[in-house]
Amino acid sequence: AGDLSKRFATDLKASPEQKKKVVIVGGGLSGLACGKYLAEAGHEPIVLEARDVLGGKVSAWKDKDGDWIETGLHIFFGAYPNMMNLFSELDIEDRLQWKVHKMIFAMQELPGEFTTFDFIKGIPAPLNFGLAILLNQKMLTLPEKLQTAPPLLPMLIEGQDFIDKQDELSVTDFMRKYGMPERINEEVFISMAKALDFIDPDKLSMTVVLTAMNRFLNETDGLQMAFLDGNQPDRLCEPMKQSIEKNGGKVLMKQRVKEWVLNEDDSVKHILMANGEVIEADEFISAVPVDVMKRMCPEPWTKMPFFQQMKQLEGIPVINIHLWFDRKLQNVDHLCFSRSPLLSVYADMSTTCKEYYDEEKSMIELVFAPCSPIAGGKTNWIAKSNQEIVDATMKELERLFPLEIGKKAPDGVGAKLLKHAVVKTPRSVYAAVPGRNKYRPSQETPIKNFTLAGDWTSQKFLGSMEGAVLGGKLAAEVVSAKAKGMKTAGLKKINDDIMAEASTFSGQ
Ligand code: FAD
Repeated sequence: AGDLSKRFATDLKASPEQKKKVVIVGGGLSGLACGKYLAEAGHEPIVLEARDVLGGKVSAWKDKDGDWIETGLHIFFGAYPNMMNLFSELDIEDRLQWKVHKMIFAMQELPGEFTTFDFIKGIPAPLNFGLAILLNQKMLTLPEKLQTAPPLLPMLIEGQDFIDKQDELSVTDFMRKYGMPERINEEVFISMAKALDFIDPDKLSMTVVLTAMNRFLNETDGLQMAFLDGNQPDRLCEPMKQSIEKNGGKVLMKQRVKEWVLNEDDSVKHILMANGEVIEADEFISAVPVDVMKRMCPEPWTKMPFFQQMKQLEGIPVINIHLWFDRKLQNVDHLCFSRSPLLSVYADMSTTCKEYYDEEKSMIELVFAPCSPIAGGKTNWIAKSNQEIVDATMKELERLFPLEIGKKAPDGVGAKLLKHAVVKTPRSVYAAVPGRNKYRPSQETPIKNFTLAGDWTSQKFLGSMEGAVLGGKLAAEVVSAKAKGMKTAGLKKINDDIMAEASTFSGQ
């Protein structure tokens, strides 16, 4: 990660004659990272964000009481090399609030109790993870632990090749194929699948679980988690914007792009803004989510196999919930895996995050998933009212906090919910269902002045903050290399089924 960063100021650095004006559409982490590295490489990036806030899926805003509402509860991991590198380059590492190196799971059969995987300091990866699982006495029996290890070993030995080959299998298919005990699913994989992609294990590609394990297990602190010390637009996006502007670029908000307007050779002539304005540039980069890119794809491009890959990718719905209580609940300074059928992870932000600290009242932020049948759920929660979603969540919380929420609490009433906020994202990260990974396109495209960024483009991390930063960085590398006449990595191979479909299409 650090080496690629350095290249923007060295061999990828443009001379004044090689300098390009580059329009980047989308001011999420990917568009901002792309802008930052292009500016460092001597170009003039202009990031155009449709909304009045930066960050996309990490965006946040204040409600009428001045409380922050976030699009998502976000966790940073030790195994996020490009993200860690970015924090260090921006000199804001002190904004990451690292938590004790462990994973906390709510106990399904013992409401109100938790169990942990503890990572012992000084023990290197992947032994520390093996030991963390072996030492946990509450989740799996010893025979279950021993049965789980062999199917996962090829991941460590063969690496990415083995991981990629498992993409056609769901997590549940993989477990059955390799004879893993069913209980592993209930105890570990359900919470892992929901945390990684907001879907259930029978819908999630095994490649996702193996990729995450491989990245996390290869580094001693890979699974250590950090919370940002406050809202993402101010604490992370703003320093990225400042870095771009300091190096001669621009970041503009309330700039909705309507259309890519093409030349006769299908390259981009200019972009047309929703307000009718035309913006010209030397190079154009899309850093919008895949569903938006599909909608905006110019008609001549939709016939090209490269862009047809996008048909196989679509965003998954997820809901982020904030609950403000009249008192402090169980004081856990960490992320918790709820292991509830409706909820994924949650955290008491009044304890875990500096800007939201409150010694007297809890603010629980929760990810509600799966929230539609395409994500493996039974109910289309995304279509339900906020009140219905909050009522269902409160019911689950009565089970998770039996001594503090609901009628079973010692005072017979329990903590009172003061207010709530629900943020629905109908299309979030791309749904990593089996067989999708091969359709993620390279950042380089067949269009000579058009490049893709975004967490969904091909890069070795999943749809995540790390993936977004890396996708943006790789897009900046493509544009910088082309500007200098240097060789690029080239287009990623397009799968045979897409090529076959395209040739049938053009033959008709
Ligand atoms: P986006 O953030 O979607 O940015 C795209 C931008 O393009 C947006 O700002 C959008 O407004 C803009 N745009 C769209 N159309 C136009 C247009 N026409 N003109 C101009 N601009 C436009 N990741 C983790 O690593 N850890 C986590 O714990 C985690 N938790 C999450 C929890 C939730 C609830 C959600 C929703 C996501 C979570 N993620 C997490 C995923 C992470 O947030 C995303 O992978 C990442 O932020 C995506 O960044 P991006 O820049 O690729 O896309």
